[in-house]
Amino acid sequence: MILGLLKEQGAEQRVALLPEIVSKLVQAKVEVCIETGAGTKAFQKDEAYRNAGATIAERDELLKKADLFVQISEPSIELIQSLSEKQVWLSQFNPLWNTDLVKSFLTNGITSFSMDSIPRTTRAQAMDVLSSMATVAGYKAVLQAANELPNFFPMFMTAAGTIRPATVLILGAGVAGLQSIAIARKLGAQVEAFDVRSAVKEEVNSLGAKFVEVEGAIDDSAAGGYAVEQTEEFKKKQQEAINDHAAKADVIICTAQIPGRKAPLLIPTEAVERMRPGSVIIDLAASSGGNCELTKNSETVIYDEVKIIGQSDYPSLMPIDASKMFGKNVFNFLQLLIAEDGSLNLNFEDDIVKGTCITHSGEIYNERVKSVVES
Ligand code: NAD
Repeated sequence: MILGLLKEQGAEQRVALLPEIVSKLVQAKVEVCIETGAGTKAFQKDEAYRNAGATIAERDELLKKADLFVQISEPSIELIQSLSEKQVWLSQFNPLWNTDLVKSFLTNGITSFSMDSIPRTTRAQAMDVLSSMATVAGYKAVLQAANELPNFFPMFMTAAGTIRPATVLILGAGVAGLQSIAIARKLGAQVEAFDVRSAVKEEVNSLGAKFVEVEGAIDDSAAGGYAVEQTEEFKKKQQEAINDHAAKADVIICTAQIPGRKAPLLIPTEAVERMRPGSVIIDLAASSGGNCELTKNSETVIYDEVKIIGQSDYPSLMPIDASKMFGKNVFNFLQLLIAEDGSLNLNFEDDIVKGTCITHSGEIYNERVKSVVES
């Protein structure tokens, strides 16, 4: 089969496969063809891809000849319409939100896989791009917060007096939140964290942070490790606790999300009004509505001398390592799709292949996406 690596459009700086992964695919008898300049923004030259065994082509030629396309971001509807039924699409296109794209794949008879739909099972862990990108985001968010804050993160005892350490509140202790806790602790801040899943309390404590306790959360083990919608009574208690802790925090990193739904609102305007001037909020949930009422996606808002940064594309700002992780996850997944002779083998008996497949032969394969699109 011919695998086509496409160049990302717009501001995205990552590339889905680094040359080191291309070389592994070539060894697995896959013919790899790269769109001219696909890796440029991630500091990967065409020459490096050529040395790894790939050929280079212009976009129009590549779109005609590849059997399977790989890129990071979602395709445009026009691009989907230009594909033929035998071609397969693989990227991260958030099908629970982008139902128009799902419908377009369906009506055009394209087989599509979305890397953000990889089931969260132990076997699929090495393919989990959401975890990889959340790791990058959690790290970068803390570095930006440290840069923006008009105070030190660590405690300093100097001849000019003692500087108190910054207090960082992390909302949501999933993959991004735990990474943020670890980095904020390494920079010497005092860290508190809150999550509706009380199961993460031990992990939070083991990273040296304090878990903010709110009793009465619903934990649903059937939700695959994800959070579920909470009762109104719990939300009220949670809000009071968060408001009190937010008022004392210098930095808040928001990471709380519920897959396929709007992000929970955890920092209302009143909570921001109680924060100290100069404090910083980084909202990683900005693209799904934000955890802070004042967040604007991809913008920085200053309200009452508090800076609210609605940044959700940190992985693109660290393109080499983010591409390295994304590509390794894709490679691990592709191993389920590539036969010994390098041809494409779609085995829907495999739960990971079936769960990640969004559309095939005019049908929606992923059950959650199916229920959202058909509702
Ligand atoms: P996510 O990005 O969907 O959410 C981030 C965090 O926000 C979660 O911890 C969630 O509980 C929390 N949250 C949601 N609503 C909240 C609210 N109202 N208040 C406070 N916090 C709230 O999740 P994620 O980080 O991608 O993953 C969540 C968990 O899934 C992980 O911690 C892990 O346990 C599990 N997981 C499993 C695998 C695997 O087995 N392959 C891989 C990755 C993650």
